[in-house]
Amino acid sequence: MSNHNKTLGLDKSLYDYLLSVSLREPEVLTQLRQETAQQPMALMQIAPDQGQFLALLVKLIGAKKTLDIGVFTGYSSLVVALALPADGKVVACDVDEEYTAIARRYWQKAGVADKISLHIAPALETLEKLIAAKEAETFDFAFIDADKSNYDNYYELALQLVRRGGLIAIDNVLWSGRVADPQEQDNRTNKIRAFNQKLHQDQRITLSMVAIADGLTLAMKN
Ligand code: CA
Repeated sequence: MSNHNKTLGLDKSLYDYLLSVSLREPEVLTQLRQETAQQPMALMQIAPDQGQFLALLVKLIGAKKTLDIGVFTGYSSLVVALALPADGKVVACDVDEEYTAIARRYWQKAGVADKISLHIAPALETLEKLIAAKEAETFDFAFIDADKSNYDNYYELALQLVRRGGLIAIDNVLWSGRVADPQEQDNRTNKIRAFNQKLHQDQRITLSMVAIADGLTLAMKN
């Protein structure tokens, strides 16, 4: 297998340059990112260029109804909600009341709170309920960025919920590089490795793994 690496390593100055000529982050998202940076779990937030990429994808496929699995302080839900048409809808899933309280505050501030319905419950339960409520194949887009040990379960349910031609985006698939280091044998790293291998073989989807931020897999339902 040819594995000549044509992907640029981004050092700080090149990444700053990339942002300086491409980032169009609305002020409300910048403020949310700054507030989230004060939180102990700040690393869980997606990168701003990644958010902008998700917004582009959502517009590209003409999405109206989306899933956000793992909300944290609400950046991904908000960036997607801002990209949706006025009648668009985000079904947001998280278990944490405290972080999602920050999320709600910014959704209000951005004027898109009515587009986002937040379900405080284990996401697996929320997704199962949507399927039971006959919402399978009605979603256009799903973003998976919750607990890594359940990635495969979230993926299987999201695959039922998105329509054909719909897109599932999965975050952290390169896991700070640990997936490529055989010394790393902890549970979450192994789960992500197994998940990546499964998707590589999964003929139900059209696949691309993008080296943006911490690695983003794009899976279009065939
Ligand atoms: Ca993430």
